[in-house]
Amino acid sequence: MFNISEINTIERGELDTQCTSDDQPSVSISRNQTDPSIIEDGIVNIGIFYETDDRFRVEYWGYMSGCLWITSDGVHELKQIFLDNTEKIPRWTLSTEITDLPDWFPTPEKIPSPVTCDKCGSEVSVTEIKTTAFEDPEARFCPSCYLFRDQL
Ligand SMILES: [Zn+2]
Repeated sequence: MFNISEINTIERGELDTQCTSDDQPSVSISRNQTDPSIIEDGIVNIGIFYETDDRFRVEYWGYMSGCLWITSDGVHELKQIFLDNTEKIPRWTLSTEITDLPDWFPTPEKIPSPVTCDKCGSEVSVTEIKTTAFEDPEARFCPSCYLFRDQL
């Protein structure tokens, strides 16, 4: 699952009462959907929960949901897979503030920089910027310019 190596995967489970509890420290990663015209399937949210120093529970939700348990090295792999990319607008972003990351979660190599709106020039975070894959894949809009983009 998620390309985490077998050696770092402890077990897999269904997302039900077996693996849902919210009283543990957790980190959350979300799919960064910048084009409102695209309906995303697959997984949209991933929660990582501390159980012991070498056992972490990963819950995922979306069109597909479930959970799995991984080792501490597995948490490093997960971080590399989802957060260490170099795209200007990453497909996945950390929902947990960097400053709120627990010790057991490795800090991502790169924090995405804000993106400039093509229309008004304002700087918008990568989770707020809007794109139009079908109209113009290169265009970048802040949320308000996105709404009025036809009136350029
Ligand atoms: Zn704008």
